[in-house]
Amino acid sequence: MTQETIDQVLKFRDERDWKQFHNPKDLAISICLEAAELLEVFQWSADDVQCSGKIDKIREELADVVNYCILMADTCGLDLDEIVQNKIRKNREKYPVEKAYGHKEKYTEL
Ligand SMILES: [Mg+2]
Repeated sequence: MTQETIDQVLKFRDERDWKQFHNPKDLAISICLEAAELLEVFQWSADDVQCSGKIDKIREELADVVNYCILMADTCGLDLDEIVQNKIRKNREKYPVEKAYGHKEKYTEL
């Protein structure tokens, strides 16, 4: 994600004076609702868990989730690069390669 893209998302919001509506609670709700729309792409798809035939809808809903994440980070004064890199660092400690490689279990089960 480039700063230019982040700036465009924020500009879109600011041009419409929507920041006044973007409190952390409603943004968290919006992230979950858009994630549910992403999940809906796979509803009733039986064994078809791949992207084939679904990529246009996946593109739309994934973008909605990411846009709301950008707005949430801005509202909360968080730097997305920093928080994602911190999370990767924590996950590396939880899931060391020598324990987690090829395993899907939660870190408490490794
Ligand atoms: Mg959507």
